[in-house]
Amino acid sequence: MYKISLITGDGIGQELSESITDILHSISDKIGLKLEINIVEAGDGTLKKTGKALPDSALDIIRRSDACLKAPVGECAADVIVFLRRALDLYANIRPSKSYPGMTSLKENIDLVIVRENTEDLYTGMEFEVGNSAVALRTISEYASKRIAKYACITAGQRNKQKKVTCVHKSNVMRKTDGLFARSCYQVAKNFPDIVFENMYVDACAMNLIRQPESFDVIVTTNLFGDILSDEAAQVAGGLGMAPAANIGDDFALFEPVHGAAFDIAGKQAANPSSFILSAKMMFEWLGMKHDDAMSLLVARKIEEAVYGVVSEGIKTKDIGGNKTTREFTQHIISKLI
Ligand code: ATP
Repeated sequence: MYKISLITGDGIGQELSESITDILHSISDKIGLKLEINIVEAGDGTLKKTGKALPDSALDIIRRSDACLKAPVGECAADVIVFLRRALDLYANIRPSKSYPGMTSLKENIDLVIVRENTEDLYTGMEFEVGNSAVALRTISEYASKRIAKYACITAGQRNKQKKVTCVHKSNVMRKTDGLFARSCYQVAKNFPDIVFENMYVDACAMNLIRQPESFDVIVTTNLFGDILSDEAAQVAGGLGMAPAANIGDDFALFEPVHGAAFDIAGKQAANPSSFILSAKMMFEWLGMKHDDAMSLLVARKIEEAVYGVVSEGIKTKDIGGNKTTREFTQHIISKLI
């Protein structure tokens, strides 16, 4: 049995959590992969109620679980997810973008993964006001850069597609920080002779993701660039509503949609839960590999087939051209799944 902690979040996080809870119960009751779901409250609502966006009790539940599913949180994202990534040393942020039949995407054969360094860069929160100016410190270390480069090279090998890693940075301008990142990635890639390693400046990458997204396999990049490029890649492949992500460390992992709390559509049953459902698929894949558990790997495959089976039959939420509510879409996934 796996203990899954579930952060229900804010905005559409509530609807997405309802959807994922129904799906997890179906998996546990009907497919037989036993799951215990522990609800964790964190986010803007929790801040209002308790004075803390992520109370200590929430962190305890997460630490005691086998993996965490996190719905989007609102304005206090930095106090929840940025904090958790650092506190649990979830150093690799994995964001796949894939085009599927039935989805509107810029090109038909997109299948790429962004491997984003998750603990450093401008996201460490070291910002200061100096007179009428403000200063932010950007930290890039050889240790973290090499660790993420190794993860990217292993991922490219396991995917067995183009076996290519594109290292994205801006070392021509940020010579010290991005210079160190690019150099570290190059040194690590030398240990993977089967992997084709290339460098690309971030502005060129932003352009090429639109011009020829199918040319990418694995992109490895720093925290801020990875955050921005993965939203772009998600949109290119089919929209934010279809975009899952994983935050992975050596012992623990947390899975969440790429997008935020989308307050503009919250409470209207208009959210596409696929982003969260595909994040759960990544979770079962990770649990399956970690525990050598064929059942969990099977569930991961079934979830992906269910999502893309449903979508290719034209059953879609509004964001991807359909008319199904979050709840209706979820019920179709469940009937395909079991
Ligand atoms: P953040 O800065 O936290 O990423 P944001 O406010 O910039 O959040 P998102 O919440 O990520 O933006 O989403 C941008 C827009 O995309 C939303 O306003 C919403 O219209 C749409 N969107 C995002 N996720 C979904 C979803 N799961 N289903 C349908 N539409 C979505």
